[in-house]
Amino acid sequence: MPELPEVEVVKRSLENKIPNYIIRKVAIKTPKLRYRLKKKEFKKLIGKKILSIQRRSKYLIFNFHDNCMIVHLGMTGKFFIENNSSIKFKTSFYYNIKKNDLKHNRVIFYLNKKTKLIYNDVRKFGFLKIFDIRKKDYITHFTNLGPEPLSKKFEFSYFKLHISNKTKNVKNLLMDQRFVAGLGNIYVNEVLFLAKVNPYKKSLNLNNFEIQRLIKNIKLVLQKAIIEGGSSIKNFKSVDGEEGAFQQKFKVYSQEGKNCPASSCNDVIRRSIISNRSTFYCKTCQK
Ligand SMILES: [Zn+2]
Repeated sequence: MPELPEVEVVKRSLENKIPNYIIRKVAIKTPKLRYRLKKKEFKKLIGKKILSIQRRSKYLIFNFHDNCMIVHLGMTGKFFIENNSSIKFKTSFYYNIKKNDLKHNRVIFYLNKKTKLIYNDVRKFGFLKIFDIRKKDYITHFTNLGPEPLSKKFEFSYFKLHISNKTKNVKNLLMDQRFVAGLGNIYVNEVLFLAKVNPYKKSLNLNNFEIQRLIKNIKLVLQKAIIEGGSSIKNFKSVDGEEGAFQQKFKVYSQEGKNCPASSCNDVIRRSIISNRSTFYCKTCQK
């Protein structure tokens, strides 16, 4: 599943190419994605200029004058851009475009200058929804989201205030989208290892140093991953076989049984399950 860095990478590549294009036609090839796509809604975009593209948590937001389109990539959603000489551009370097991919094109936006924006999704868990721009702040997908982890708002006093009565473990805390938006299983595992915090530790028992290490490493790991172009995720990999650069840098995620990467440690990486999600950690390094 694409996590925050992967979605940010897609956003940045779209941002470089797509704004100021006008939508001429929308062809819905597969209406049945996670939510059914309504032709009537997409008609509202015809003749409209794409003004800007934003990211909130793992959602992409395409802004138009009167409307906005929210996109969630689900497990395998991706965008291609095809220009007037039929050259396809991918929006992230962690997948290749293969002929076989074309059958998974779900929505095609025909733009001016003979350009196409193509939404492709093998497993169809993603979605695209159109909203009135005036209602953007009240979209249910956004109303319960906590601050962006890379924003200034996500800092020590916010963190401290929100854990004062929380008995839930720190792994579940960081996975909670109401506390911080966009962190997923891969990056939470990595962050807890780098911050030397045990995933089972109760949130209210975190001391000030641990809080500071968590915040610092959350920001660091996400920024690094964005620079690397996002990690290669299983579902992406099976589509194209290409691996992103960040995957080779995982310290604990998916490293069960391997030696702990800390040079002074002789322990191995363990795997256990917290709230149905695989948790990888070193018992010795993470207290
Ligand atoms: Zn260790």
